Amino acid sequence: GNVYDVLPTRILSPHNTDKAIQNYNEIADKIVAKGHFGAYGLDDDHEMFRETFKKFAEDVVMPHAEHVHRHDDIIPEDIIGGLKDMGCFGLCIPESYGGIQPNDKPDNLSMLVVTEELSRGGLGIAGSLITRPEIMSKALLKGGTQEQKDKWLPLLASGERMAGIMVTEPNYGSDVAGVSVTAKPANGGWVINGVKTWCTFAGYANLLLILCRTESDPSLKHKGLSILLAEKPSFTGHEFTYTQPEGGKIEGKAIGTIGYRGMHSFEVSFDNYFVPAENLLGGEEGRGKGFYFQMEGFAGGRIQTAARAHGVMQAALEAALRYAQERAVFQKPIYEYNLTKYKIARMAVILQASRQFANHVANLLDDHKGQMEATLIKFYASKVAEWVTREAMQIHGGMGYAEEYAVSRYFVDARVFSIFEGAEEVMALRVIAKSLMDQYAAG
Ligand SMILES: Cc1cc2nc3c(=O)[nH]c(=O)nc-3n(C[C@H](O)[C@H](O)[C@H](O)COP(=O)(O)OP(=O)(O)OC[C@H]3O[C@@H](n4cnc5c(N)ncnc54)[C@H](O)[C@@H]3O)c2cc1C
Repeated sequence: GNVYDVLPTRILSPHNTDKAIQNYNEIADKIVAKGHFGAYGLDDDHEMFRETFKKFAEDVVMPHAEHVHRHDDIIPEDIIGGLKDMGCFGLCIPESYGGIQPNDKPDNLSMLVVTEELSRGGLGIAGSLITRPEIMSKALLKGGTQEQKDKWLPLLASGERMAGIMVTEPNYGSDVAGVSVTAKPANGGWVINGVKTWCTFAGYANLLLILCRTESDPSLKHKGLSILLAEKPSFTGHEFTYTQPEGGKIEGKAIGTIGYRGMHSFEVSFDNYFVPAENLLGGEEGRGKGFYFQMEGFAGGRIQTAARAHGVMQAALEAALRYAQERAVFQKPIYEYNLTKYKIARMAVILQASRQFANHVANLLDDHKGQMEATLIKFYASKVAEWVTREAMQIHGGMGYAEEYAVSRYFVDARVFSIFEGAEEVMALRVIAKSLMDQYAAG
């Protein structure tokens, strides 16, 4: 059952090219003979979980994936409803708050397994649905008052409240500390003014996490930021406007994207939008701590991005293998050529390595370790997803460039991973390198 049963440890033989080719051929032929790309290395419970969500992805998600992508549509209700019934939105919420995570310890591996299978079914219409509730619930668990946890976590777990995360602004993306949207004290609460951007699912969402500047002293930088939770009605279109009874207004317009379609990512403007005082995360104590609360969710978001990349890679790899066996060129299936076998085997090896690394990091995160490693695996999986989907497209020849083949969708979907949840350059320099230097300095 171990991954090495399918993938020999000694794959590359730099001093023996014939042996290296033979090793790759052997891997590819084993993949075909066994009908899978290698074991996932999960225990029975997680494997059962994986099978359940794999079936849901194949039965409910996949039939919608092409249509939504090509028409830039919204996620169909049967996907959201089905995932609510399965408790999916409560994956990162402890049982005592209505979720399905054990109370004593997080279970990041379950989250990875579910995310990968849903992303294999469709990145934009399923694979990313649990990212927002995860980021919001982690921030709530870290910084929320008891009343806030009791109120919002069960609503997030059941899917009654769908989350939108509003951190990025037109002038501040990687440089989160610069966030300029303001929240000023008003009668019984706060009023928000300014523009956020790239807020995924902000139209459909009815609960928004907004990182905003509550302290007017600019020298405070990231210590002047707080998190407000704002409610709004749910909308399904590419644009929305809502005026509150108090007169405040929120307006959103979706940004057209090449992939990652289904949730729509919005530019959103706030005009004196009112949020009651009780929705300041952490209460008065939470003022100026928004940056830290939101960071708590980001490690989870990053490892989840690795799982999303694995799901897209898996789908691309399966499509490539299928096409290679069906399509004959120079009188024989493309799969019969050594170079194709090499490509298939190499894609499988890289995907397996990335998946096993992510599983390891999930266990570290369960023990509240592995923050840097979560960024590292997000970086790696995002990068290799571009290569794997590129090779899968290449194996399809001209048809890889045709919209009618799903592999073209996998290619454009994969491109987003290196950009969101932290752009790769910033992750490399300011998180990974910095953390390694700090570790070195600490001996
Ligand atoms: C589809 C999509 C969905 C998104 N969803 C959300 C969401 O729901 N909520 C949300 O808040 N945000 C969301 N984002 C925003 C995303 O997190 C940002 O795009 C990302 O953080 C990068 O910020 P930026 O776009 O402003 O790029 P910039 O910060 O302008 O960076 C531009 C380039 O400069 C590089 N760079 C920056 N600093 C350095 C440096 N020091 N050295 C070298 N290079 C550097 C970056 O790596 C990048 O390549 C989403 C983005 C996309 C594309």
